[in-house]
Amino acid sequence: MKNKKNENFSEWFTEITQEAELCDLRSEIKGMVVNMPWAVMTMKKMYAIYEAELERRGHRPALFPALIPESLLNKESEHVEGFVANVLWVTHGGDKKLEEKYALRPTSETIIYKMYSLWIQGLKDLPLKIYQSCQVWRYETSATRPFIRGREFWWIEAHDAFATREQAEQQVRDDMEMTELIMHQQFGIPFMFFQRPQWDKFPGAENTYAADCLMPDGKIVQQPSTHMLGQKFSKAFDIKFMDENGKLQYAWQTCYGPCIWRIYASIIAQHGDDKGLIMPFALAPVQIIIVPIFKKENETVVRDKSYKIKQMIMQAGFRVDVDFSEQTPGSKFYKWEMKGVPIRIEIGEKEANSGILTLARRDSSTKEQVEESKLIAKITDLQETIRKNLVSKADDYFISKFFNASTKEELKEQLKKGGFVRIPFCSIDVDGKECADEVKAETVADVRGVPFDSNEKPKYGERCIHCGKPAKVYVYAGRQY
Ligand SMILES: [Zn+2]
Repeated sequence: MKNKKNENFSEWFTEITQEAELCDLRSEIKGMVVNMPWAVMTMKKMYAIYEAELERRGHRPALFPALIPESLLNKESEHVEGFVANVLWVTHGGDKKLEEKYALRPTSETIIYKMYSLWIQGLKDLPLKIYQSCQVWRYETSATRPFIRGREFWWIEAHDAFATREQAEQQVRDDMEMTELIMHQQFGIPFMFFQRPQWDKFPGAENTYAADCLMPDGKIVQQPSTHMLGQKFSKAFDIKFMDENGKLQYAWQTCYGPCIWRIYASIIAQHGDDKGLIMPFALAPVQIIIVPIFKKENETVVRDKSYKIKQMIMQAGFRVDVDFSEQTPGSKFYKWEMKGVPIRIEIGEKEANSGILTLARRDSSTKEQVEESKLIAKITDLQETIRKNLVSKADDYFISKFFNASTKEELKEQLKKGGFVRIPFCSIDVDGKECADEVKAETVADVRGVPFDSNEKPKYGERCIHCGKPAKVYVYAGRQY
């Protein structure tokens, strides 16, 4: 690639989305790209993994309309205030102006909770846990980037209702556990869950907990967030149930939104290198590519062996392909390295006759020889080895990006290294907003919040980095996408 990931990440990212054919930017709709097969095949696998885990944990899928009547969107005041500037509206049916305009869903709380008010009557209807996999639209006014920020993107939204606050709080922890199991352990993307400051929570939520990840340039990107909605929406939408004493109670609610499209951006950015993508084994559209190396005189023996090996791997349940195109072996290597295929098997005349195959790993750039009879066992082992290697490389980077500062000068200095800088701060309630705004204006750092469930407390005498009042919390700050 022309651009180097560690020198000019931003250009590297754009280049890789084009070179690996992940999206086409020529749709002529600003902020909306065409997602190409190589990307979509992986995103569908990501969806499948997430959906299976949600269902294992008691969620059920549903599909709600993409259009939300304006009156419904307006029902929860903080919610509509938070979203209205980014709503795309449908105003006409044919050439007739609609009596009421419809929002193209920017998120689906309002339409889903209207239905919940009809579905939830008694304790027998709770908990209610439903998710939908869909795309949403937000009229972004800041610069858009494929997979990172767009006016159209693909996500999952899970919406849960419970009889008690405790059950809702447990669901928030459950959402975090799911994020750990999937995004970190399977996709290799480390994160830290922060309780967002009150001025930066999801519009309409009591509290927002968001997983912050890092890009290779040290900037923060927000991944799944889970929201404790409390009873704010149940009161606005009249979601009530009869409790055991015959009294009407409002439901307690949570919602969780892993954005598959954006997590895919983290996968590209985290694992890729200057030769292209490096796909986690479980997400690769093609997991093993066979590259035959032959001349006219030995083509048949190499071809037969290649197809035989392909058949064997396919029957073992892996996704495998043989590249019999006209290109040279060198350009085939280049192509499949760019696409991030985890394992390459080279088969020439020597391999065809000896039954000893050469395996090249994309994640470690290592090669090893394996007997044909042990090939399937080897691949089976490698899928776990590759997963662990990607997770541990990503973790090493992530862990190295935590710093401390106790003055604004120190903060500015530490921010140059990228990542998270821990600072003593007055408050993450609304009264801390002014300090956060000032810190941002002076240093470009966003205050991300306090780590979930953390018991780190500033020592006696430590003071807010801006106003100098006694520090109540340590917050983490950094530059964000
Ligand atoms: Zn302060």
